[in-house]
Amino acid sequence: MRAVLLAGGKGTRLGKSDIPKPMVEVGGIPVLEHQIRLLKSHQFYQVTVLASYKAERIEEYFGDGAELGIDLEIVTEDPPLGTAGAVKAFAKCHKDPFLVIYSDLMVDIDLTHLVEFHKSRESLATLVVHPNDHPLDSDLVEIDDEAFVKQFFSKPHAESAGRRNLVNAAVYVLDPSLLEMVPENEPSDFGRDIFPKVVKSGGKIRAYLTTEYVKDMGTRERLAAVTRDFRAGKISRMNRGVARKVCFLDRDGVINKEVGDLSRTDQLTLIPGAATSIRKLNQNGFFVFVVTNQPALAKGFITLEGLSKIHAQLEWILGLDGAFVDAIYFCPHHPDKGFSGEDKTLKRECECRKPAPGLILKALEEHNLDMENSWLIGDRLCDIAAGQAAGVSKTILVRTGHDGHDADLYEERPDFVMDSIEEACELITESSRDQ
Ligand SMILES: [Mg+2]
Ligand SMILES: [Zn+2]
Repeated sequence: MRAVLLAGGKGTRLGKSDIPKPMVEVGGIPVLEHQIRLLKSHQFYQVTVLASYKAERIEEYFGDGAELGIDLEIVTEDPPLGTAGAVKAFAKCHKDPFLVIYSDLMVDIDLTHLVEFHKSRESLATLVVHPNDHPLDSDLVEIDDEAFVKQFFSKPHAESAGRRNLVNAAVYVLDPSLLEMVPENEPSDFGRDIFPKVVKSGGKIRAYLTTEYVKDMGTRERLAAVTRDFRAGKISRMNRGVARKVCFLDRDGVINKEVGDLSRTDQLTLIPGAATSIRKLNQNGFFVFVVTNQPALAKGFITLEGLSKIHAQLEWILGLDGAFVDAIYFCPHHPDKGFSGEDKTLKRECECRKPAPGLILKALEEHNLDMENSWLIGDRLCDIAAGQAAGVSKTILVRTGHDGHDADLYEERPDFVMDSIEEACELITESSRDQ
């Protein structure tokens, strides 16, 4: 597969106006070279760089790519046509799908897996999406159960928007037929103009959710952050090939206040310190997974759609404080019958309702987890029991929410009892400092 790198930007916001943005260095190597090395490691040997500002600097540095072992073509756009316009002008003679990466991104994702995902279902485009620590000023997408994009929301967003933290990361696999939607010889942008148009007209675009490293370095602060991450080895450590330490969090009574069968977004209030604690876990390289029993679904107190709204709102209010969760796993079941309006299909014994370990085992199946460095925080012994049954190495009971009121029902005991998620996360990040 061919890769196309969009390298038209200037480095102005980085205070480096004499070089194209992708020639800015991270760890002594231009960002563009980091990208090309990643491409090559996934057998992308044909790379096109669409350049415009000071394209000669890119040419001088990379030549024809032979030194890096790839076949490199540098195309200078004149006049600049925006991301979509530029790709259309280049791709006229190409019939096969190709990969597009914006070249102000530091990326370390398993591109081979991404391409397999794209090929697994028919679609005009696959977009890499991920939660980030600034969803308020990011382009967001809304997806359905099969990861098809339903809607695009361009930044900026109102503080009350309440959307899922699913950010368009600006890495795409595109089918050339999508380019029919791109106007000829006039500037247009994929995220802002083309993708929304495709979805509105019934075209299929799919989202590839990743927890791997994708961050832009387009401002001084972000460049500094990316450089820090690079030096600390964090960028490659987040690749899906590497097992990551993990913290499982119960939802009600740990992250948000326990109200009993929470069914509306206005009932959702964070426990003080929850967002900053989760942010700390994010920054320290932990996966953060929510594992929650939601019998309100089986009891008919809430619909799946209603629960999705609550989880979008939860992601949103965490995002306002720069925190995110990597996934939310919930059990919709409940064993006891007798509620009016109950959903009979969900009224059954299952393997995911805590104290059963199913939700944690599912996360383990879907992600590469370092279970020797795994933690769980719950407010009930049934959470602790689920964690221990799944092989979580350390469990913490917090005194918020139910405050362990079900202790009589279980023999299991937590490794630690702490006042709140804040204290618990301090212990977790302190204990893992040396790894
Ligand atoms: Mg709870
Ligand atoms: Zn279940």
